[in-house]
Amino acid sequence: MGRIAVIGGGPAGLFAALEAADRGHHVSLYEKHRIGEIIKCAEGYFDTLKILEKPEEGVLFKVQNIVVQMENQYRINCENFQLWMIDRAQWQRHLGEKARERGVDIFEKTKIGNKELKELQGENDWVIDASGTSCITSKLYGFREFYKENSIAVLQYVLDGDFSYIGENIKVGLEPHCIGYYWIFPRGKNREGQETANVGIGFFQGNEGLNLRTELNRVLKKERLEDYKILKKTGGRIPVKVLEPLVYDNIMLAGDAAGLVSPLHAGGIDLACISGKVAVQEAEKGGEDYYKRLWKIVGPKLQMEQDLLEFWKKLEYTAFEEIFGIALAEDKKITPALLWKYRGLLGREMNTLKTFLAGVIKMDWQGRCREGKIPFPFVE
Ligand SMILES: Cc1cc2nc3c(=O)[nH]c(=O)nc-3n(C[C@H](O)[C@H](O)[C@H](O)COP(=O)(O)OP(=O)(O)OC[C@H]3O[C@@H](n4cnc5c(N)ncnc54)[C@H](O)[C@@H]3O)c2cc1C
Repeated sequence: MGRIAVIGGGPAGLFAALEAADRGHHVSLYEKHRIGEIIKCAEGYFDTLKILEKPEEGVLFKVQNIVVQMENQYRINCENFQLWMIDRAQWQRHLGEKARERGVDIFEKTKIGNKELKELQGENDWVIDASGTSCITSKLYGFREFYKENSIAVLQYVLDGDFSYIGENIKVGLEPHCIGYYWIFPRGKNREGQETANVGIGFFQGNEGLNLRTELNRVLKKERLEDYKILKKTGGRIPVKVLEPLVYDNIMLAGDAAGLVSPLHAGGIDLACISGKVAVQEAEKGGEDYYKRLWKIVGPKLQMEQDLLEFWKKLEYTAFEEIFGIALAEDKKITPALLWKYRGLLGREMNTLKTFLAGVIKMDWQGRCREGKIPFPFVE
């Protein structure tokens, strides 16, 4: 039994704290706000690797389809996906309560700075830094620039209005002039009958000339949402490259602090939860294998997503839509002839693309276990 301090009461920190408490450690968690108080998220909980359970609290609905808007509209059936819309504040508050019940000392409204971080390092066997992008460790150890250089910019509004037309689906839009996408993630009706949705836009690198606000406002017009009331505006940068190393003396990074976010769709909740747990397990063994073990679990998925992004950047929009559309159509198949047509553009990503389209979209993947019973839907 050791002493573990966790910085940050987001998914990574809460999962780390719970794992550590369950394994008999003395755990303290420090959160600069109140847990669940400030959430910057579209609230799509996508357990891409099928490793996690359904969230215990805060589920708004299981997503039925992802509606993809390009020139035409496509639907990805989500029956076999572990994808839920959640109320993240409620979910995190629940996890916080659970951690308290299991003996975690939680200090809210407590911001950790350089001085406090050094103190925590001295007082604990391990510190798990789950304080998000530009984490506090990066300030002390001088690698804050890494996040700026390896992140995507996002802007999101919470809109109030009628989203019943979307149903229990989420919508994403891919447009010809930028590599990135916009999203409309409805939250259903709250207790007061008010209907809201998280509507946002994110650009990957290479779209520097575009202004997020102008683009999001244009999307609102295009989607006929310009008269909806804006309840909240959030934004920021999401890190999309895993840091190396992940261990700094007796500090381990988890979640966004570790750059653990999908480079393809910028979802990071699942990876935050997984890394929080794995960090604790590896801390017990001395920490040397943290990166290796984590990469074994999440690496193939992240690599595939990176490859897909490269392929998306390379292909012309119309070609991308042609391949994507055919992959989704029930009665059509990606033929060798079609892939041959784009052979020059696809290059080494060809296999990745085939795996992705056959496996993920058609949902007939052959899951493989990389670690124990973990199915690996994204890898052939
Ligand atoms: C607009 C937007 C939309 C997104 N939508 C999705 C989505 O739909 N699905 C998805 O999977 N991912 C989404 N993401 C990414 C996702 O939110 C993150 O990957 C996820 O929150 C990472 O969890 P975390 O615990 O690592 O960090 P965070 O959730 O950022 O938690 C970090 C915590 O640390 C606290 N903290 C920070 N500094 C200190 C300090 N010095 N001292 C004490 N506490 C501190 C913060 O207050 C915060 O509570 C989105 C991100 C953004 C910005």
